[in-house]
This record gives sequence, structure tokens and C-alpha cells, in this order.
Amino acid sequence: MDLNAKIYIAGHKGLVGSAILRKLEAEGYTNLVCRTSKELDLREREAVLRFFAEEQIDYVFLAAAKVGGIAANNDYPADFIRDNLFIQTNVIDAAYQYNVKKLLFLGSTCIYPKYAPQPLKEEYLLTGELEPTNEPYAIAKIAGINMCKSYNRQYGTRFISAMPTNMYGPNDNFDLKSSHVLPALIRKFHEAKQSGAPAVEVWGTGTPKREFLHSDDLAEACLFLMEHYEDNEIINIGVGEDIEIKELAGLIKSIVGYEGDISFNASIPDGTPRKLVDVTKINSLGWKARIPLDEGLRSVYSAFNQDTLIQA
Ligand code: GDP
Repeated sequence: MDLNAKIYIAGHKGLVGSAILRKLEAEGYTNLVCRTSKELDLREREAVLRFFAEEQIDYVFLAAAKVGGIAANNDYPADFIRDNLFIQTNVIDAAYQYNVKKLLFLGSTCIYPKYAPQPLKEEYLLTGELEPTNEPYAIAKIAGINMCKSYNRQYGTRFISAMPTNMYGPNDNFDLKSSHVLPALIRKFHEAKQSGAPAVEVWGTGTPKREFLHSDDLAEACLFLMEHYEDNEIINIGVGEDIEIKELAGLIKSIVGYEGDISFNASIPDGTPRKLVDVTKINSLGWKARIPLDEGLRSVYSAFNQDTLIQA
């Protein structure tokens, strides 16, 4: 990508898009295009087509999606499948119609079968049943992957798809009802420390394992793939290591400096037991995650703490 190429970051306010935007700015890209969802509702086909017609975009990072943790996916399944299908279909199709040079579509590891062998290799896609709690979201993402592939085959476009593992970082969603586990636990331990609550409730049994990738690492990987990846098959982005939810809770507890107990509420679903991605493919191309989990957690907690002080 030329430093003055016109690059659209769809979803620049979110965890992933904001990290990509920071990275592009830091690398010296000057012609970056962003729209908030108020300015451009990506679910509206006509509006998206108009935007692409006006802007003549060269590259697209498609990081806009309706995302959420286990509770949100369970409570709003229709919204998850509908909004994601609309957003990705509109952007991918407009990118084709207006001759975008290359597009990176971001999926998620929940596209892999619930009981796929670990670590998850790219070829396990569509080899078994999905995890029911996020199946609507996963099916939308699988449709997006296939759309990129099919457009490449039929129209000769260069639309690549990457599957990041669970991410965390600045601009994450800290709302307890809809967030993922890591920001939820940061908030829960922080508030329990402040209020002097005797225990923090962790959902599920604490035994599932998850992998956590800092969004700055992800952004670096996205730029790397935009520059170097041309394959029509998906590629994982991850760390290659995972940790048990109860271990994560212990780590966050000590970083926050909370001294009470941890309780587990096993009546709340655990979701997938494990979803560690195989990172052999991206590592062999020359990219590797760099930010260790404890270092990333410390920086996210210090930013969260700062924000809550400002808001107080
Ligand atoms: P998932 O990776 O799609 O399953 O989504 P989450 O990040 O929401 O959940 C990961 C795991 O953390 C699941 O086993 C949850 O039950 C567990 N978990 C424990 N405490 C919490 C919490 O406070 N919020 C969320 N979202 N998950 C939690």
C-alpha cells in the first residue's frame, strides 16, 4: 500500500478498527477514510454504494460488525445474524462494484466447529457443528468468508479473510451485559475493590480456556496481511497460547489489587470449552504476536482506571 493510498477503515470506533487506525497513522498513511455509524449506517445498501461511489477507495479494512460476548449473542441472535450479514454484504459488494484494490475481511474463531481438534487449523472450517450460543454470528461470518472467496473466483477481486482469536485492548466494551470476559472481569474486580465487596462472580465453571490477543498486535497483523497475503483461504491471527478463565480471573485480580474471593456461577453457560488457534500459517509468513498477556492487561487496566477517574 502506498502511503497516500485511500484506505477505508470500516468500524474505526471499535476495538479492532481503532487499533488499525492508530497503526496506519503511526506508519505514516495519510489518506484514511472513516465514518461513524451515525454518518454511514453500513446496514443500508444504498448509503454504502453512494459512499463508495463518492470516495473511490483503494483499500478496505472491514472491521465493522455487531459483536458481543456470550450473553449478548444468546439474547439477540436475530440482530447478530441480520446486522452482520447486511454490513459485510454491503461493504464487500460495494468494494467490488467500485474497484477496491484489496479488502481484508475480519472473521472470528467462532466460525470453527465446537468440538474441532485444538489448536484450530484453518482447514477445520465447515467440518462440524458450531457452538450454539454464537451460531448466528458465526454463520454470518462464514457467509462473509465465502463471499470474499466467491467474488475472487468469479470477479477476480483480491478480498482476503483473517480469523482473529479473542481480542482485548483500548476502546473495548466494558458493559457487563454485552462484553467479553476480559473487559468484564477488569470492571468487576475494579468495582469490587472500590466498593469493598467480599467476592467477585465469574460466570461458568472457570475451566474453559481462551486465547487473548492485544488489538495492537492484531492491527500489526492486519497490515502485514494486507501487504503480504494473497491466498483465497482464511488465515488465523493469534498468539498460539491460551489460559483457563479461572487463571485469567486470578491474573486480573492481582493486577487490580483486589483482595476478596472469586466465586464461580456454573448456572451460566461456559460456551466452547477451548478455542486456541493454530498460528503456524501466519508465523511461517513472518508475523508473530509480541505483547505478553500480563503486560497487555496492565496497560488496559491502567487506561480503564484513568477513564473511570475522569468520568467520576
Ligand atoms: P466466548 O469466548 O464467545 O465464549 O465469549 P466470552 O468472552 O463472553 O466468554 C468466555 C468465557 O468466559 C465463557 O466461558 C464465559 O462463561 C466466561 N466468563 C466468566 N465470567 C464472565 C463475565 O463476567 N463476562 C463474560 N462475558 N464471560 C465470562
